[in-house]
This record gives sequence, structure tokens and C-alpha cells, in this order.
Amino acid sequence: MQDWKLSIGTAGAIGLRHLKTDAPPTTAYIMLGERCLRNCAFCAQARASTAGAKFLSRVAWHGEEEDRAIQAIGQAYRAGKIKRVCLQVVETPDSFAIVARALAKFKAYPGLPVVVSCHVAKVEQAEELFALGAARLGIALDVATPALFTRIKGGNFEQRWQLLCDCAAKFPGQITTHLIVGLGETEKEMWDLMCACVARKITVALFAFTPLQGTPLATTPPPDRSSYRRLQIGLELLRRGYPAAVVHCDATRITAIDVPQLAEVLANGHAFYTCGCPDCNRPYYNDHPGRLLYNYHRPLTPAELTAAFQESGLAQLVQVAPFSASRHLKAAAKEPSANVTAKEAPHA
Ligand code: SF4
Repeated sequence: MQDWKLSIGTAGAIGLRHLKTDAPPTTAYIMLGERCLRNCAFCAQARASTAGAKFLSRVAWHGEEEDRAIQAIGQAYRAGKIKRVCLQVVETPDSFAIVARALAKFKAYPGLPVVVSCHVAKVEQAEELFALGAARLGIALDVATPALFTRIKGGNFEQRWQLLCDCAAKFPGQITTHLIVGLGETEKEMWDLMCACVARKITVALFAFTPLQGTPLATTPPPDRSSYRRLQIGLELLRRGYPAAVVHCDATRITAIDVPQLAEVLANGHAFYTCGCPDCNRPYYNDHPGRLLYNYHRPLTPAELTAAFQESGLAQLVQVAPFSASRHLKAAAKEPSANVTAKEAPHA
């Protein structure tokens, strides 16, 4: 029987590892396979990466016997500790068979939604995964422009985008893509791609690029936080049904947002939460505990909300007084929260 790799946070949340944390994941993250056939320049699991094999992004992974892992996840789901499973599939010659086997095993827990995040080459493979029991499918674009895609991931952006669009047309609202900010694209290029995704009902999971030792991009800095905040705000407005035209850009970046009382609209802090599939909070996936976070996996404190507004550089938000921003957080603070004090090692 093969071992599965659970993120350290997942292993802690489902009781398979002692982990003192107040940032439990709300999705169980499982990495299937090791050392990818592909060679994405940012990825610890890439073919040529010399990063430790037990890492994916900043997260360390815990090996666990397959049936024991499934049983613990199922019990945690029934207890309401986790709400979703994400299979993060490293591409290997037998990855499709491994995913099929995992999906079959999770059928023992009806209602437990399983997302499969893997490489698919054609719509028929997506159909097969849904037929096998996947609730959603993640097809990562990662990179925002054709030239960067070829340089950083290898392969053809247009083909990948077309496949993503075809899958989204066939399974509207059930397709997620990962977009990584900070790989050399302009803010405007990322914004345009986000708009194109949302227009096609493709759910966007936004990541901040995280340099990892042992990868070719180890010395590339993480993205400008101000730019990241503006993209988060733009995406939140799209999710709430505002037209893309409310966001104004120059040739390279977002310059203004034409929404009355923008601070009030954003005052619950949701714009700065981790986004992607429902209930995916990815604690510290690309953030450092103890610092201001790119993606918040729990409600922001008043100081964090004020900082996020300031960082955006948008005139309506920079002028908001800290007191004014904080009074709106009360409702958000009542939501289920990990209430993190952020002392732990990386552990989505
Ligand atoms: S958004 Fe979260 S749950 Fe969805 S595919 Fe990405 S990591 Fe998995």
C-alpha cells in the first residue's frame, strides 16, 4: 500500500500528527506522486528542482499510509473539521490511475467534495475525472502571458487557455485555475486574465509567487504587495458582480477604481482572504507566519485591514481612518475563524 502525502496542517487537523496551531486548514490537502515529469521553474516538485522532495511551495508534507489517511479525513469531514479534499497531483506516468483510485476510495464518504488539481490534456479526461467522482477540477495556468508561460512552464499558453475555456464551458462553475502573481507579468496583464477567467465562470485562486531554494527562480523576489492588493480588490469586485470597467488601468497597472464608498464595500476584509475553491484557506501556503500576509486564511485584525487598504495605494482606501476601517470588521470576525497568532512552521 502506498503512502500519501498530507500537508502538515492537514495531518494535524485530522489528528494524524500532533501540531500546535491555531491555523487549521478547512480543506484537506493531499499531494499524490513525487517529482513531476514537468519542469515549472517555480515548483519544488519540478523535474530539475533540487528542493526537498517533501515540499510543495512553502509547505512540508507528511507521509501516511493510504487507508489510514482516508479514514482520518472521512472522520474529520463527518466531525465538521474539514469541508473539502484537494488532490494536488504531481504528474507521473501513472498519475491518472492514482487519482482514479483515490476518488474511488473517497466514495466511502458521500457528500465529501473532492477537487482534483492535475494536468489534463483534453476535455475527455476532465469528463472522466468528473465521472469518477471529482466535484471540481483545478487546471492551473499559473502564468499570465504566453511568452512567460513558455519560458517558465514550457508548453503553449494558448492551448492551455483553450482547454481551460472548453472545460469551463462544459462544467460551468466547477473549474478552478491557479494564477501566480509576480512571475514577470504586469499588473494589467494579470488583471486582464482574471477578468477573462471570471467572465467564463472559471474560479480564480490567486497566489503570490514564493521563491524556493533549489528552483531556478530562487532569487526572484515575491510580488509587490501594493500590486497584489489591487488585484485582490479587483477580483473581489468581479466576484461581487461589479463590471470589469469599474477598474481603471494605464498600460501596466490598475490606477483607480470607480466604485462609490469603496472602503465600505471592502470593509469586511474578504478581498484579502485566500481565494479559490470554496473552503480552501491554504494557511501559509505562500506566506510567512508573523508577517503581514498576502492571503489571509482568517478574518483580518483592524490593523491588518488598515494596512491592506494603505498598501493598495488607492486614493479612496489610503484616506480611510483606522477606526473607520476597523468598525466594519465585527461582522467578519463572527465568521468561523482559525484565530491565528502565526507561530508555526509552514503548513497549509
Ligand atoms: S483553490 Fe485550493 S482546493 Fe481548489 S484546487 Fe487550488 S489548492 Fe485545491
